[in-house]
Amino acid sequence: MSLDSKIPNGPISDKWTNYKDHINLVNPANKRNIDIIVVGTGLAGGSAAATLAELGYNVKAFCFQDSPRRAHSIAAQGGINAAKNYQGDGDSTFRLFYDTVKGGDYRAREANVHRLAEVSANIIDQCVAQGVPLAREYGGLLDNRSFGGTLVSRTFYAKGQTGQQLLLGAYSAMNRQIGRGKIKMHNRHEMLDLVIVNGKARGIIARNLVTGEIERHSAHAVVIASGGYGNVFFLSTNAMGSNATAAWKIHKKGAFFANPCYTQIHPTCIPVSGDHQSKLTLMSESLRNDGRIWVPKSLEDAKAIREGKKKPTDLSEEERDYYLERRYPSFGNLVPRDVASRAAKERCDAGYGVNKTGEAVYLDFAAAIQRYGLEQAYIKGLDADDKKLVIKLGTEVVANKYGNLFQMYEKIVDENPYMTPMMIYPAVHYTMGGTWVDYNLMTTIPGCFSIGESNFSDHGANRLGASALMQGLADGYFVLPYTIGDYLAPDIKTGKISTDLPEFVEAEKNVRDQLNKFINNNGAHSVDHFHKKLGKIMWDKVGMARNAQGLTEAIDEIAALREEFYRDVKVPGTIDSFNQELEKAMRVADFLELGELFAKDALHRRESCGGHFREEYQTEEGEALRDDENFAYVAAWEYKGKPSEAVLHKEPLVYENIKLVQRSYK
Ligand SMILES: Cc1cc2nc3c(=O)[nH]c(=O)nc-3n(C[C@H](O)[C@H](O)[C@H](O)COP(=O)(O)OP(=O)(O)OC[C@H]3O[C@@H](n4cnc5c(N)ncnc54)[C@H](O)[C@@H]3O)c2cc1C
Repeated sequence: MSLDSKIPNGPISDKWTNYKDHINLVNPANKRNIDIIVVGTGLAGGSAAATLAELGYNVKAFCFQDSPRRAHSIAAQGGINAAKNYQGDGDSTFRLFYDTVKGGDYRAREANVHRLAEVSANIIDQCVAQGVPLAREYGGLLDNRSFGGTLVSRTFYAKGQTGQQLLLGAYSAMNRQIGRGKIKMHNRHEMLDLVIVNGKARGIIARNLVTGEIERHSAHAVVIASGGYGNVFFLSTNAMGSNATAAWKIHKKGAFFANPCYTQIHPTCIPVSGDHQSKLTLMSESLRNDGRIWVPKSLEDAKAIREGKKKPTDLSEEERDYYLERRYPSFGNLVPRDVASRAAKERCDAGYGVNKTGEAVYLDFAAAIQRYGLEQAYIKGLDADDKKLVIKLGTEVVANKYGNLFQMYEKIVDENPYMTPMMIYPAVHYTMGGTWVDYNLMTTIPGCFSIGESNFSDHGANRLGASALMQGLADGYFVLPYTIGDYLAPDIKTGKISTDLPEFVEAEKNVRDQLNKFINNNGAHSVDHFHKKLGKIMWDKVGMARNAQGLTEAIDEIAALREEFYRDVKVPGTIDSFNQELEKAMRVADFLELGELFAKDALHRRESCGGHFREEYQTEEGEALRDDENFAYVAAWEYKGKPSEAVLHKEPLVYENIKLVQRSYK
């Protein structure tokens, strides 16, 4: 099967407008005859469900939480990008497009990224109209801050709770439609398979997680908005329930899976503290606006700090190495995440780590507190030489900007980050890979769409901070509602799809067989036992730095672990009741396949780009070394029975509007 990305012709800045002007539309009366399933009600699925219902379609929405407003999107802290240029600092649609393509290390599709930059401004208007309380300046105008990989301030935010506030906006829009009966909401339901009839996606099989009942649901199109698969690493900043099952099930039914190895390791997370943990905590990138990252200059000081003989505040400025400011003077602490993460690892590997395990660096706010304190003293006409007063005033400013993040840190680490620098280390955070989609956001299965983090998205090999929310809401509010109409226009006379069709019967039987297999297995180990083992292989051999030998070993080890899992996993309870171990078993089974494809993709990509760092391919200074001649393509994998037999398809990436050059942030 050949890949057709369906990118419209014409100049890049006109493509989307011309395309929208010429696609097929479904008239409002006919929309009432069309059903759409949306799996996932995070920012992508929630915004899509609300908008599709507002347009008049009948929407059936599914999520595994007890309410859409508990989707993982609620965790997003730092902000959402938009090319509004409110700061007058040189931003524009083109600059956001350029930053995103460059930030993604030239592995994203130009046409999609340009469209994303174009609609970014509408998202802010939409959310403000919904009443989302985005931060405002003293004069009442919307405020912005900076994120990594850019030289402008274009990030809109709501303190450290941007995802929560945006999700409340999308959720209210959904609720209006739930109230009107246009959205039928299925909370606590997990999609376990896709049903294809005559080559088109026509429904899903879902399990009611409360009663255990297996249900058939039909529609004229299915939209997957199920989020990312970072939990393949076991430990990540993702919500505990985030999983790949919906995306993986459609992959097994014919949707190609693109760039699985592109994973983002976020530089500012609270370091791992031991084997007992099941989750890692992010400290938002917005903190890098004001926090300075450093380690001691000398190995002796680093050792003394690790042994508790010295405190970070004992070290003078001259004794500190602000290594990002030293290595990347133009972007400093705001280099993109992949660059910042590797730089932290490099310093810790060289022995400069500052916590007991040697895997932590400092994020220090002392300079910001001082700077803001002085500013406030001048504004208020107070004594700028009063050191205590300056610190008090500066602390208040920092608390206003990031208070909830500082509070979270103090609760977890039991140290006051206003007084002593935070300790941070990189952790798995976001997956740029996902189901391959064309310009219409349709997968290689007709009628099956994928939006938000679950698709391979617009971020190439590395996502810039605050761009995931932008992409999820762009897909849901402004892109899919157009493109899905073009697909559905010929379906207005199809009528209801029956769930008695043999395809539904067979898909339901397969799901039941899988569930029963786990219940009847009677092995010796819990699901988590295997998930942790998978996570360790992934982190050690497919994590921040990868090489051919480690990846080859990982592929064999994951395949062996999968066999062991099916032989020896123990899942208590029954299938027809509330059973969280059974839910986990189904998810981990999918991670055990996805993990192998992930390693296979990383092995085949013999270059370094963005979040994919192959040790064999680096510059003398340790930067990622791309190979544009041989690898400027999207790797889209077709399922052929097992991950080891997946077939690679290549979508060449053509850069007509941005020059392909080695990326630099100096
Ligand atoms: C700690 C943290 C902070 C972040 N901060 C930011 C930020 O400041 N700015 C930014 O741009 N990005 C941020 N991100 C990334 C961003 O939050 C996510 O990429 C984004 O929210 C994903 O949205 P989504 O709608 O695609 O998926 P999700 O929000 O993950 O929603 C997935 C939905 O799918 C449902 N689902 C999944 N599988 C199934 C199934 N099989 N059956 C039924 N339902 C299913 C779930 O119930 C849920 O409703 C952050 C990420 C993390 C981890």
